[in-house]
Amino acid sequence: MFELMREHQLPELHFFQQDRLNAIVAIHSTELGPALGGCRFVPYSDTASAALDAARLAQGMSYKAALAGVPFGGGKSVILYPEGEFDREALFEAFGSVVEQLNGRYITAMDSGTHVEDMDIIRRTTSHVASHSEIGDPSPHTARGVFHGIKMILEEELNIPLDKATVAIQGLGNVGYALMEKLIEHDVTMIVSDINQERTRRAMKEYGVFVAPVSELLTEPCDVLAPCGLGGVITPELVPRLNCKAIAGSANNQLLNLESGELLHRREILYAPDFVINSGGLIYASGSYNQLPKNQIENNLENLTSTLTKVFSESHKQNKPSDQVAVTMAKEIIANHSK
Ligand code: NAD
Repeated sequence: MFELMREHQLPELHFFQQDRLNAIVAIHSTELGPALGGCRFVPYSDTASAALDAARLAQGMSYKAALAGVPFGGGKSVILYPEGEFDREALFEAFGSVVEQLNGRYITAMDSGTHVEDMDIIRRTTSHVASHSEIGDPSPHTARGVFHGIKMILEEELNIPLDKATVAIQGLGNVGYALMEKLIEHDVTMIVSDINQERTRRAMKEYGVFVAPVSELLTEPCDVLAPCGLGGVITPELVPRLNCKAIAGSANNQLLNLESGELLHRREILYAPDFVINSGGLIYASGSYNQLPKNQIENNLENLTSTLTKVFSESHKQNKPSDQVAVTMAKEIIANHSK
């Protein structure tokens, strides 16, 4: 565990055990403000993989918050799936009480496997929770941010008008489906896929979009590939087979490793770092938590495109992969703040 913390520059990794609750809270940084990040409730093969996921995601949240200009640090939590039958309400109430023990150093929110209703239950035992029902699901705001990013990439970086562009979306979940709808509104040609056939059937029925087989979506010819399913999909083996000009989607940790970013850079495929382009949900949830006026939240959300432009221009200037440039920029913001 200490090795894991060192590797992810994670100063705090909390383990909580209370009745049926086994929970982990990873806090990566609190320099810019309290660590904000979702609570995952998905099955893991073991505790070490859950801790690794929390650590990696907490680090990503720090960079995301820094580049989005929101006054929060990075954190993430995981509730381990209890074996056998369990009382979901009791579990999330207990989780609220452990969040409370951290005295506001960590603010929790929705993530994979948790819902607005769970956040309302957590809220009974702590006030340190965003995305409860008065704030709502951040996904449509994440989708809007990704849409603004893709629009900017097409129009300003690739010189392709929206109505002449083709975007391929992998994963039609909460974010992917809303993103598809926004792009269709602007006459973008769509290619989609999802392992869940109910979602692709719905997309075909409602919008008549082209559905690609799951195994072929990533290599379909398109202008922008938008991974909106799981992380780690851009592997070094995949990069030479890609048929897109840019990659811009919502999934966290899209690049399997640094090599994937380097190969994309060498092939001149523009990569929008995930923690920049998918920050719309964080901007919305943190702004609502801090009770910012709606128009200010909206401005902050649209501004993520200027951060992207800056990342791309530094990447050209320094001849360095965009993901590495964005990490350096985020680290500088955090370091300069704590000086
Ligand atoms: P979701 O679970 O609602 O949707 C994911 C979709 O991807 C599902 O429909 C799933 O069936 C599909 N999928 C998974 N693997 C696939 C594959 N190999 N091929 C095709 N489809 C596949 O999740 P979501 O909330 O839409 O989030 C999508 C991604 O964006 C996740 O990686 C999430 O961590 C990230 N993200 C989400 C938010 C948010 O506000 N929801 C914010 C930031 C980042």
